[in-house]
Amino acid sequence: MRQLVCPECGAVNRTPEAKDALAAKCGRCGARLFQGKPLEVSAAQLAAHTRSTSGAAVLLDVWAPWCGPCRAMAPQFAAAAAQLEPQVRLLKLNSDAEPQAASELGVSGIPALFLFRDGRVIARQAGAMSASQIVAWTRQALAQAAA
Ligand code: ZN
Repeated sequence: MRQLVCPECGAVNRTPEAKDALAAKCGRCGARLFQGKPLEVSAAQLAAHTRSTSGAAVLLDVWAPWCGPCRAMAPQFAAAAAQLEPQVRLLKLNSDAEPQAASELGVSGIPALFLFRDGRVIARQAGAMSASQIVAWTRQALAQAAA
């Protein structure tokens, strides 16, 4: 079973692995569980996703509105979502709005990417990347974690 958090209402949904997760809808609110784009989250929502997602990884982009490289990377990160879903759920956390969560992650420079699997950070990367670099880095980190 794959376990996913609804991007709209936060309900935890369980779907069979064999089922097309891209077409799956939330059992509570009917929203699509994957929407082809990153989801902006609060610290509490980030914790819910990393804690309750299984059968998929969670990729987090820590950014801030004043950060030029972060803004430049935003469309690249969005494009990566279309390629990585449903194996990976892409989230964005504004470090200005959630400084404590950013500090707990050990963020020193932004943009910073964190890849979670089963609630743990399995890879991290600082600095802006293109969509193809984000996809390649994520797939390589997941392959290494599975090995
Ligand atoms: Zn929902």
